[in-house]
Amino acid sequence: MIIMKFGGTSVGTAERFLNVANLIQGKIAEKPVVVVSAVGGITNLLLQAGEESLQLEPSISKQEEFPASLKRIYEIHDEILKFLQLDPEFFQKFYVELSEIYKGISLLKEFSPRARDLVSSYGERISARILAACLQKLKINAQAVDAWDAGFITTNDFTNARLLPDSPHKLNEAIGKMNFLPVITGFIGKSREGHITTIGRGGSDFSASLIGAAVQAGIIEIWTDVSGIMTSDPRLAPQAKPLDSLSFQEAAELSYFGAKILHPKTIEPAMRKKIPVLVKNSFKPEEPGTLILPESEKEPGLKAVTLKRGIVRVNLYSSGMLEAPGFLSRVFKIFEKHEISVDVIATSEVNVSLTLDHADGFEKAVSELSEFADVEVERDRAIICLVGEGLKQTPGIAGRVFKILGDACINIEMISQGASQINLTFVVRSSDSDKAIKLLHREFFE
Ligand code: ADP
Ligand code: ASP
Ligand code: MG
Repeated sequence: MIIMKFGGTSVGTAERFLNVANLIQGKIAEKPVVVVSAVGGITNLLLQAGEESLQLEPSISKQEEFPASLKRIYEIHDEILKFLQLDPEFFQKFYVELSEIYKGISLLKEFSPRARDLVSSYGERISARILAACLQKLKINAQAVDAWDAGFITTNDFTNARLLPDSPHKLNEAIGKMNFLPVITGFIGKSREGHITTIGRGGSDFSASLIGAAVQAGIIEIWTDVSGIMTSDPRLAPQAKPLDSLSFQEAAELSYFGAKILHPKTIEPAMRKKIPVLVKNSFKPEEPGTLILPESEKEPGLKAVTLKRGIVRVNLYSSGMLEAPGFLSRVFKIFEKHEISVDVIATSEVNVSLTLDHADGFEKAVSELSEFADVEVERDRAIICLVGEGLKQTPGIAGRVFKILGDACINIEMISQGASQINLTFVVRSSDSDKAIKLLHREFFE
């Protein structure tokens, strides 16, 4: 059994759906389990339509008051359905449901995390049905499966739900029994209470890896719009080149520190079950892509430079810190309580600096910290990360980073050699970050 996951860019148009169906057909002997994202851009539009609904004047009787983005969602799917000669009626019920939900949002003037997950789920539910229909046209016995019907049951943590511990077993059992090729919705699940959930933006990669680990797939293939994991985001560094292979640890660090190509949690389930992950380009399937393997098979070398924006730097000063055992533990308990993850930390005897995602709830955490320390908050920061097993063996990398950025008058506000020894992480102002990536890419990879 293999997992084939197709992202939104790979199913952006009717032609792309046909292309993906052909790719799947070519692998039919390997028993593919397909995981699919929403059509490119649809998840954003579904959420935007929710925001627009908050602005609509509620009226129970008026039928014509729809959010503008819902119309766009309809048009995008309609064009695909017409081209593929699929019956638009088949999908009508989804639009009727969505219109009702948006009306509810405009009446309640509330777009809660639970409602966000509910509306988001329609993207994947529609695309899975379109792809299954394309496969059926190729005479393949395929069926769309909503993830929960395959056993993808999660916690109730809307917008960031976690798979329940007994779900892998259920997934394995349910998928094992399917006597058809399943096209499973990525990104979404359902809680035991029956509420639809999502596992975080870009989460279809993570779904694919969770499902792959559950069924002990031979390989997890992530099909996207670039020819593998590259030395940097090609949108930032146009000279970026795809990498032949990476270790699990390198890929995990890359995705955690901003390489959008993989959802940050994708690697963990694959790593646990030692299942190789192959990142391939659905537009250029002949290219080899990037193979991610267990550590033992890694190649040394510096692999990539990544960028994570939307970072907040928090500086804590407390003169009593030295004599106060448990100070750091108090600090971290607050972040734990608010479910905020801390990426980079630097400490001295009277000062701690740390970086956080600009996540919901960070203001509350800061106000609690102010009760026992002086707190300074700096927004609009970015984390840049150099990743590769080679960092361990190569002296002087930090020196080169300081020189190259110093010459360009880019201030490094914090630096940390990752505990894993395969990353070198530093913090700069967001406004300097694009330039910094270009300079570092040129220095280390071109
Ligand atoms: P999908 O729709 O297939 O899930 P995404 O847009 O989520 O695709 O991820 C692919 C994009 O990730 C690429 O188009 C590229 O711009 C971006 N990206 C960021 N960092 C990297 C990297 N190191 N290597 C390749 N792509 C990267
Ligand atoms: N459609 C979802 C999103 O846009 C999940 C994914 O594409 O992986 O976030
Ligand atoms: Mg993605």
